[in-house]
Amino acid sequence: MITKFANKYSELDCEGYERVVRCDNTELGFTAMVAVHDSTLGPALGGCRVWGYGSDDEALTDVLRLSEGMTYKNALAGLQLGGGKSVIRTDLNKVDSRAMFASFGQFIEYLGGLYITAEDVNSTLADMEVVKEQTNYVATVGASGNPSPFTAYGVYCGIVAGVEYRLNTKNLQGLTVAVQGVGQTGARLVERLAEEGCKIIVADINTENIAQLRMKVVFKEVKPAEIYDVPCDIFAPCAMGGILNEETIPRLRCSMVAGSANNQLLKEEDGEALRRREILYAPDFAINAGGVINISCEIGRDYNAEVAWKKTETIAGCLRKIFARSAELDLPTNVVAVQMAEEILGRKTNNSRKMFNVA
Ligand code: NAD
Repeated sequence: MITKFANKYSELDCEGYERVVRCDNTELGFTAMVAVHDSTLGPALGGCRVWGYGSDDEALTDVLRLSEGMTYKNALAGLQLGGGKSVIRTDLNKVDSRAMFASFGQFIEYLGGLYITAEDVNSTLADMEVVKEQTNYVATVGASGNPSPFTAYGVYCGIVAGVEYRLNTKNLQGLTVAVQGVGQTGARLVERLAEEGCKIIVADINTENIAQLRMKVVFKEVKPAEIYDVPCDIFAPCAMGGILNEETIPRLRCSMVAGSANNQLLKEEDGEALRRREILYAPDFAINAGGVINISCEIGRDYNAEVAWKKTETIAGCLRKIFARSAELDLPTNVVAVQMAEEILGRKTNNSRKMFNVA
């Protein structure tokens, strides 16, 4: 028998967003929000983040920011998908997770396909399987599987594009790469870079992840707080957001920043700070699109991994365009990347846009 959850839906009026809907379930103890920022290119695709937000406003701010970012990410990746995101505000220690995701699935079904959900921070493949029991508008539970290998490969392709742009070579041999965070994406990136002959420096707060990687690759380890100061060619942030800021940027001793982490810039103007330091920055939402590219390959068609890998390689071309245009217009790469996404969407660009980072 299918349980009908006591979800209460309300529409939120948010300027600049196509549709923002809130779902309260007081019985189960959660509030979910779905923001569809832009569906010009297709149904909005973006993950579901579960977090113990301090307030509804905080959750709303996050879902709005993240869904806008997905619009740019999906557009730049050449996908026929719009930008959307969902958040669930709850106490992860108290909530009945299975019931919550089932109820969330009914919320997604209620939206009738305007938004397609997927896993994100604190939501797993297993959770998405529960969502899938209630709605078909969920990706990542099909054939495409774990998106992380694709994200890592896309970052690798982006690094090659950056090296080519800066050093006029595709050969990474002998370059030093400092990697912050060796989880799902960072570890895979390290393995690939080591195969190419890079020297690797790593920092992670999780000693188990370091130990796992040590069984496969030779690298130097530094303390997490020291990773910004190590002399290297490329700094690859593969952990959390906001790590490029007025405190860390002056410390960097690299010529390029290229990693998987979302929201790398704390503020939009940090992109300009990197440019002034002549550090080539690969905008996070352009370089870390491999995962979403892979997911897109199972929406509305039979999944083919070979196609997904090939499509992921297009990230290199996208970054080459961003780097060239940044130099031509004397603008930071993050600003140029938004301009390019806006053009794909057929809109006029306003260079002083608000923060648009993605997760
Ligand atoms: P993960 O949780 O598997 O790995 C993150 C790693 O960073 C962990 O090993 C963690 O211990 C480490 N870490 C956390 N704080 C740290 C710190 N202060 N210093 C050093 N290390 C620290 O996550 P992931 O899936 O590899 O994702 C990494 C980043 O990439 C996230 O920002 C994520 O949103 C983004 N991203 C991931 C994907 C994907 O496909 N997994 C796609 C797009 C973006």
